[in-house]
Amino acid sequence: MSRPVAIAPSILSSDFARLADEAQRMKECGADWLHVDVMDGHFVPNLTIGAPVVKSLRAVTDLFLDCHLMISEPARYVPDFLAAGADGITFHVESEGDPREIAAAIKAGGARVGIALKPGTPVEAALELLEVVDMVLIMTVEPGFGGQSYMAEMAPKLEALREAIGEREIDVQVDGGLNPETVKHA
Ligand code: ZN
Repeated sequence: MSRPVAIAPSILSSDFARLADEAQRMKECGADWLHVDVMDGHFVPNLTIGAPVVKSLRAVTDLFLDCHLMISEPARYVPDFLAAGADGITFHVESEGDPREIAAAIKAGGARVGIALKPGTPVEAALELLEVVDMVLIMTVEPGFGGQSYMAEMAPKLEALREAIGEREIDVQVDGGLNPETVKHA
């Protein structure tokens, strides 16, 4: 079975002093989306970027801006990311707040809704939210740092998710440790 695959390189791997050039370079390389890893130093130990950087990116690229919020209070920051021009906003089921309310706020703002699961979170946490999301992100590394190895043991989770989705138009995103080899497995 074949289905369309989209590639969403993370801007975490960019030279942040040259973000506009990096976005253009990824577009020329065939990227479908730009993945924006947002970390708050609380939900995960690392600290990265916020909505102002998304706003700057929005001004220089027409690529889909796929914002992955690894933050404790997504509800508090969703309006900022919507205003900054995010095309998709993904938040973690492990974060604070009512996921249905957060999903509704994202959708009302005109962006696509994603939910994300850390490696240790059972897939059931996503299955009960399928009717309110456009995408489910399965982490194949522990969130928080770049450069970790792909966790192939997440395969049963991906399989269960794909089966539960069935014919519905819901994307499955795999995030972490992807390279030309591991992407085949994913
Ligand atoms: Zn991510």
